[in-house]
Amino acid sequence: MASQGAVVVIEDDADVRNLLVAVLQQSGFDVSTASTGHEGVDLVREVGPDVVTLDVGLPDIDGHEVLRQIRAATDCYVIMLTARAEETDTLMALQIGADDYLTKPFRPRELRARVAALLRRPRAQRTAPRPDVAQSESTVPLSKRAILHHDGLVLDANARVVTLEGDMLTLTRSEFELLHDLMRSAGAVRTKAELVRVVRGGGQPTDSYVSDFDQRAIEVHIGNLRRKLEEDSKNPRWIMTVRGVGYRLTPVAEGE
Ligand code: CA
Repeated sequence: MASQGAVVVIEDDADVRNLLVAVLQQSGFDVSTASTGHEGVDLVREVGPDVVTLDVGLPDIDGHEVLRQIRAATDCYVIMLTARAEETDTLMALQIGADDYLTKPFRPRELRARVAALLRRPRAQRTAPRPDVAQSESTVPLSKRAILHHDGLVLDANARVVTLEGDMLTLTRSEFELLHDLMRSAGAVRTKAELVRVVRGGGQPTDSYVSDFDQRAIEVHIGNLRRKLEEDSKNPRWIMTVRGVGYRLTPVAEGE
């Protein structure tokens, strides 16, 4: 089987670590493991993985600090492993830039479903996008490029680059997917449940289970995105809240 990409598992509990490794390897990923936070950060810098699974409770440094250090080095897809009772920890991890979470104890079936969702995602770039990379791709015919524009925001889906009035934004995988989905929807309202499925990877059944907490996770991702866009909360220029439903792109006023 061709490799589906590289995964780094950071987990101090050997049973959980072995389960993660077994399921990920069966799915075709190259897996490396670390049992402490420091080791994990070093391994992520060395491997440059597509996906990281990160335990919140590690013996040396706090999982949130590990996440901060990983985020400083890469925009790869990060799944936090948290205990069921630690919802505030999970929300904090999402604020720091985790893409998704899995609560322990989880069943292998649950983990396989999450891994299957990962496989449906577009392959992550190995390195963070840079403006000069985006320019070097301008040899690709324009018709083949998926470039979306909206009021100063430009999203290039192929290069996975977003600029705001010419300045590059550094977005996590999930922030990029959410913004891409809203821009593609061109002002149509997207429900939080729909956006959960966007973050989990497209092509999931539209009736797949979405919890209240999954929807709160979307609120956190959108909050992060708005902070990076420096949105005016009273008068959002790009992302509007549709109360009780979800989000939509702010329409551009006539004549602008
Ligand atoms: Ca642990």
